[in-house]
Amino acid sequence: MKSNEDVIKITAKHVASTYGRFPIALVRGKGTKVWDRSGKKYTDFVSGIAVDNLGHCHPSVVAAIQQQAEQLLHVSNLYHIEPQSQLAAELTRHSFADKVFFCNSGTEAVEAAIKLARKYFYDKSDTKRKEIITMKNSFHGRTMGSLSATAQKKIHWGFQPLLSGFKYVAFNDIQAVKKALSQKTCAVLVEPIQGEGGVNVPDKNYLKELRKLCTQNKSLLIFDEVQTGFGRTGKLFAYKRFGVKPDIMTLAKAMGGGIAIGAMAATEKVMKSFVPGSHAATFGGNPLACQAALAALKVYTQDGFLQKAEQTGKYFLSRLNELAEQSSIVNEVRGVGLLLAMELNQPGSRIVLDCMQQGYLINCIQQNVLRFIPPLIVTEKEIDGLIKVLAKSLEKLEI
Ligand SMILES: *Cc1c(COP(=O)(O)O)cnc(C)c1O
Repeated sequence: MKSNEDVIKITAKHVASTYGRFPIALVRGKGTKVWDRSGKKYTDFVSGIAVDNLGHCHPSVVAAIQQQAEQLLHVSNLYHIEPQSQLAAELTRHSFADKVFFCNSGTEAVEAAIKLARKYFYDKSDTKRKEIITMKNSFHGRTMGSLSATAQKKIHWGFQPLLSGFKYVAFNDIQAVKKALSQKTCAVLVEPIQGEGGVNVPDKNYLKELRKLCTQNKSLLIFDEVQTGFGRTGKLFAYKRFGVKPDIMTLAKAMGGGIAIGAMAATEKVMKSFVPGSHAATFGGNPLACQAALAALKVYTQDGFLQKAEQTGKYFLSRLNELAEQSSIVNEVRGVGLLLAMELNQPGSRIVLDCMQQGYLINCIQQNVLRFIPPLIVTEKEIDGLIKVLAKSLEKLEI
């Protein structure tokens, strides 16, 4: 049997070095736990980056995949796909959207949203409206369109020229949006809560104001819910938490309960600009991924499931705040539901490694922000366990 080290060696030799990886190979998962190649067990507060919201290998998702795998894996969107139609019906039943385009990832969902927004105004012969306003410290993905939408220099570096037509303004600054809006503005694209940018939560009325401004200016409002979707904030979608409906929403990450699937959902008024030939994805909405997503959605929408997650999030937030009060190296604790973060006044990598050694997986974004995105089924006892380890680790860094 291979060891962690064997896997690391082969990765270094043969896999593109696009990721800074921790020195373990995870081989098994169940619920909130994962195991590495040496058999060491970890409690997962990363969830494959907000993907494993149901926990690892949720039995309903696994059963749905097993069943579908024996029946039909892939055909093509040349034909009707029953699980795809069911999933679209369920997603629209549970959201503002009337129609859904299916793809395989977050970045693809954002690309689809950019195309749809432009096409919508093209169809109205409003051909000047090509500009999309996005936010500083946003994250929308790594393909050329969505990386151009992402207003972070480090993500652009080396890949210019970018796709044109984006205007960047500060997040949570309604005046900045007001100033940037014009007759050229096709859409405003925003994460309801910025994920990769540091778990930045906007002021209570920011998204409401954005909605108003977009409506007044006849621009579309696009919410990138790739990270905030599927219960992460304690509601099925974050827009429900803020009480603001967008025109378009992008989804992926936790959508398939661990299987790759993404979607761009919109109102009928907007989605009717997508006609045969406008857009496509070979694997988009394939039977296997859709059955996994259907099974996952059934759990997310089960009575009490998200309420429980919301309560757990409140408990976790209060425990993090307690820690912050005792530590001089914590700048701030923030977040909503189970999308939580602790900003330090110094790099957080040592703490991440410390936690890993003690059997807890967390991650660090923007150098100094520890992010906590556990499966929504995480228990208070598991949170207490992490808090204990964090407290010791923070103490070590105090001088
Ligand atoms: C992760 C993420 C993406 C990109 O998703 P991929 O599946 O990695 O392409 C886009 N938007 C947001 C808000 C994300 O968190």
